[in-house]
Amino acid sequence: MATKVIRKKAIGVDPVDPVEPAVTPPTHDAADTAFLTKPKLTSKSKKRDIPEGLWTKCPKCDGLIYDKDLDSNLKVCPKCSYHFKIGSRERIHSMVETCSFEEMDAAMESVDVLKFTGAASYEAKLAAYRKKMSMLKDAVVTGVGMIGTHRVALGVMDFQFLGGSMGSVVGEKLTRLIETATDRGIPLIIVSTSGGARMYEGMFSLMQMAKTCGALAYLAKQRLPYISVLTDPTTAGVMASYASVGDLIVAEPGATIGFAGRRVVEATTQSELPPDFQTAEFLLKHGMIDAIISRLEMKSRLSTYLDFMMAARRVA
Ligand SMILES: [Zn+2]
Repeated sequence: MATKVIRKKAIGVDPVDPVEPAVTPPTHDAADTAFLTKPKLTSKSKKRDIPEGLWTKCPKCDGLIYDKDLDSNLKVCPKCSYHFKIGSRERIHSMVETCSFEEMDAAMESVDVLKFTGAASYEAKLAAYRKKMSMLKDAVVTGVGMIGTHRVALGVMDFQFLGGSMGSVVGEKLTRLIETATDRGIPLIIVSTSGGARMYEGMFSLMQMAKTCGALAYLAKQRLPYISVLTDPTTAGVMASYASVGDLIVAEPGATIGFAGRRVVEATTQSELPPDFQTAEFLLKHGMIDAIISRLEMKSRLSTYLDFMMAARRVA
């Protein structure tokens, strides 16, 4: 039987003979014994592949959220209530009574009137986005649906389609929605999210600001309520027109709301802006909006507001 020689250096004793081998080489008998051999770790130490699209990291609390939980919670982080962006269809589904929504002007599509060309032509961009968002032809979905006991004209913008930019189709669809509310004597709700006017359409996109506000003036003459819901982000031409003239203006928590971007304002005013500048919370503090409502409570709160506003209208 082989005798093991313990290397003294290894246990902190001064080495007597530095030439002495550290460990006696094992005999072939010992090498064959399974429990003495070192287990191979190479295959086990490989990282297990986590399939993509199952988990989402919350940008506010860094928590990992299971996608199904996130979807069932209307894309609101269950840990810190961070509001992720949500598509127009999903939002409509969360706001109206089941199967009550009738869409209007679903087939209306933008055209490239200016023959705009840049890094990519407007026509190519439109085609790419229509292909990517098969259920969406432009950046807004409009229609009539029920919220609680109220029939409501509802328009919901979608940031995923060209940054929710307002072109001729967005303006026209919203104007028709506002006119429908006026004609039918029902309240109007527009959920906005937008990077502003669609520059590919130049002047035609800017004209939508006046057009939508003109239609809203007729709605107001009929003493019908208009509730504007601002979501992350609502900026520029949209914020400067129909989004900011609601009888009631509410916003989702943490939403970025403003006209020009923070850097532009900073450079123009030559002053340091507070960290919460252009957030829903800042605007509420300064009286620009009326309330901040969690997406999870949006439907019930809107229903309560409509009860109040439509009752007042009946009394008047
Ligand atoms: Zn979170």
